[in-house]
Amino acid sequence: MLARQPDIETKLYDVLRESFASQRRDGLHLTDLLNPRQYYWKQLDPQPLTNGDIGFFAGGLGHEDAVARLLKEDFHETPEDIVDGVALRPDFVARSSRIVPEGSYVEFKTRRSNLPKSDDEANDPARGLTTYRDQIRGYMALKQRPEMYLLVLSLTEGKTKDPLSSSAPVFAVYKETMTPEELAQTRDTLMSRKILLQSPAGVDQLPLCWAFLCGKWTKALVRDGGGWSYQPKCPWYDKCRPQDTDPNRGGRRDA
Ligand code: SF4
Repeated sequence: MLARQPDIETKLYDVLRESFASQRRDGLHLTDLLNPRQYYWKQLDPQPLTNGDIGFFAGGLGHEDAVARLLKEDFHETPEDIVDGVALRPDFVARSSRIVPEGSYVEFKTRRSNLPKSDDEANDPARGLTTYRDQIRGYMALKQRPEMYLLVLSLTEGKTKDPLSSSAPVFAVYKETMTPEELAQTRDTLMSRKILLQSPAGVDQLPLCWAFLCGKWTKALVRDGGGWSYQPKCPWYDKCRPQDTDPNRGGRRDA
């Protein structure tokens, strides 16, 4: 007989939580500059990782480790670097030209589904791969690289709300490019955010984080009235009140 063990699952989550906490890196990281309010709250009011966070992080790390092992002749994991006081680590650097040009940086991401249907969609700020792009363009600006690659593993690509839809894991590879002007402008933006985060600025003076980190709108079933409601996800949502700056984050739904 197979019997699920909730008490052991609790211990497992606790040990994983400890393990992730022990790997927490000090200093200011690129992701902190991209999500400045979460950095602010982490300093002021640290919160433990939720079980959901732990599951997502473990899944992402597992896929990254698998790619590193399977492509060890071609991709090398990069060490952390510090540029102008900002810590960063693109996932891989190419050690051969079999896949991407040797010496190129490669960032790896796992997602559930919904790869963009076209390059136009991938570049669309609202519907595209904007958070991935923010991160790799930050690496490029700080490392002064005019191009970089993004490798995405979409685990259930093709899945829709139709229960009969079929799906399969799909790898997608993108090349991001930046002009010298874009590199300089992005670097300036990151440096001004660093100065802001190191100043006594209050949270209201900081830019908002990526929208998906705040929470999301969900629609009730028709039998329950079919109305929209906002489900906060960030542990500091009530204190931070991002809807005061962007009503679409819980104040008023635009579309
Ligand atoms: S509520 Fe949103 S903007 Fe505020 S810290 Fe959380 S993720 Fe960032």
